[in-house]
Amino acid sequence: MFRFADFVGNTSTVVHLRRAIASGRLPSSILLSGPSGSGKYTLSLMLTMALLCENQPREGDLADFCGHCRHCTRIAEAMDLPSLVDAAVAAREELRETDKKETRVLIQTHPDVLILPPDPPQLLVKLGQVRTLIHSIYSLPGESKHRVYLFPSAAFMKEAANSILKVLEEPPAYAHIILMAEHPGELLPTIRSRCAPVRLGALSPQEIEDLLATKKPEVKPAQRGLIARLSQGAAGKALGFDLDGYLAARADAMVLLRSAVLDSEHTDLFKTTETYRAGADGQQKTQAMLAALAGLLEDLLLLRSGVPDRIRNVDIRRDLDTLADSVTFEWLENALRGMDQVISGMRRNLLRSLSLDAFAESMASSRR
Ligand SMILES: [Zn+2]
Repeated sequence: MFRFADFVGNTSTVVHLRRAIASGRLPSSILLSGPSGSGKYTLSLMLTMALLCENQPREGDLADFCGHCRHCTRIAEAMDLPSLVDAAVAAREELRETDKKETRVLIQTHPDVLILPPDPPQLLVKLGQVRTLIHSIYSLPGESKHRVYLFPSAAFMKEAANSILKVLEEPPAYAHIILMAEHPGELLPTIRSRCAPVRLGALSPQEIEDLLATKKPEVKPAQRGLIARLSQGAAGKALGFDLDGYLAARADAMVLLRSAVLDSEHTDLFKTTETYRAGADGQQKTQAMLAALAGLLEDLLLLRSGVPDRIRNVDIRRDLDTLADSVTFEWLENALRGMDQVISGMRRNLLRSLSLDAFAESMASSRR
């Protein structure tokens, strides 16, 4: 069983929230933001347990949870969210076509706690989900003293966003709503303004290395340093980091980058993009390669800016130095801007409308 003490990093933020719970002053609507893997969902479940726990343990003036009462244990069952969502989606697939459309993915392991994950395949929170919240939030909690609603990724469909505004503004006294977001700037201002913002910052590379040394002793020290840089301060990301997968994606990204920068014929460039055709696993592969490419471009920018200490791909520093000497700031900025568009387009699921070739072509042609 885990406790608040097991939550890595952001100590002062966590202390602040625990104190607010102990004094009954936790804001009713919270927007919890932070990079992927920073522990937004884990912390949300911990806060939920602290609110509902039957034993209400205290550490000085800080709220805690016991971890073994009838509330804590059921809330903790929601920890492995991806498996629960997979199971809910699979169950929906079994339904008749007409029922499927009406069925939204909801996770509930405790009667007073409702988790509303983004609904596949669009991965947005839908109107039906918000309606379920509105339907239950005005009736008193059944078994505990609170009702808690968690949105693991607060990307709402338009109608869903509009219909949650009122309840976000004035939830009943016993209710708490926690919205989680990686990029709070992408949320509607009307939603943001109704929530108390809480931000989880990135951990330092040293904090991540220490965490890996304790929790994943099988990772070699040299790899630890690299993973710490690559996971960009996200504890969860570092612990689950697939280094082999990353290195494969990065090797392709390097071919693309090298041929765009150094090879005037660009033969390898298009040979590489050729292997990235659409298709189910093509999307994941493309995403991984583009993320690696974006990281490499940022490293080149850091090298050109004279802050080599901050680069992530520390193991290929020499290759990066060579590339950095061959490009201008302007080229890098253009390439990064192009990457941003490609990546944010992918977040909005627009993969089919974008062309990797077009992006590669523009990288290559701006060198000519
Ligand atoms: Zn408890």
